[in-house]
Amino acid sequence: MTSNTIQQLSNNFSATERMPALFIGHGSPMNAIEENEFVAGFRKAARSIPKPNAILCISAHWFTPGTRVTAMEMPRTIHDFGGFPPQLYEVQYPAKGNPELAAETRQLLTPVQVEMDEKWGLDHGAWSVIKHMYPMADVPVVQLSIDYTKPASYHFELAQQLKSLREKGVLILGSGNIIHNLGMVDWPNFDKDNHGYDWAIEAHDTINDYLLDGNYQPLINYNNQGKAFNLAIPTPDHYLPLLYTLALQQKGETISLFNDKLMAGSLSMTSVKIA
Ligand code: ZN
Repeated sequence: MTSNTIQQLSNNFSATERMPALFIGHGSPMNAIEENEFVAGFRKAARSIPKPNAILCISAHWFTPGTRVTAMEMPRTIHDFGGFPPQLYEVQYPAKGNPELAAETRQLLTPVQVEMDEKWGLDHGAWSVIKHMYPMADVPVVQLSIDYTKPASYHFELAQQLKSLREKGVLILGSGNIIHNLGMVDWPNFDKDNHGYDWAIEAHDTINDYLLDGNYQPLINYNNQGKAFNLAIPTPDHYLPLLYTLALQQKGETISLFNDKLMAGSLSMTSVKIA
């Protein structure tokens, strides 16, 4: 990072204490309009950290060839799901964008080419969570896409280039679900408390041990960890945002878990705070 780029962002955001980094399990889009223990956890996480100058969100739902960053002044609310009640489609989350943060993110990720995006906005991976954290929509939100052509190790390394944003009051927020096998969801037992299939329990317990031990290498090599992991993480989209958050951990920082529950047999809501 050059002194020029530090100057650029310091014009917009004052230097702050280091902002914690979060990964949040977003679960069903219905969490956007429901009241339950998980959304209470989202709110509690927001209350436990300083109010950010802006949020940079890495959502499972913006999975692109190449890397993009939202660069518009006013991102639209994207209803990127089907088959839900009308009131979910009526939700608007009018947080502003922040083109300066988008430009800074692009610079920090050099030499990776990052496209300044004017078309996306806020997908439900971002707004269904951030709506509970900052209901006044008074914190600007920028999204960074996940390049689906790249392996997990690439994403873990790329995220490390973002760490200086934390010193500028930017909350880096990964949004996905660590265990996410939609094809095996136990629909009749969707609301049963802390319900996981045997393989989901096994993957959950192993992953939590790795997280709490700071042993991230097997989490980066997740697709080489046996059957329980393969069932828990059948596709990378909802898992990779976790690696963005883990990669931001600095010396002396600790990791803590919240909303640490399985649901519907094949999903987990486990969320992570690095501070
Ligand atoms: Zn999702």
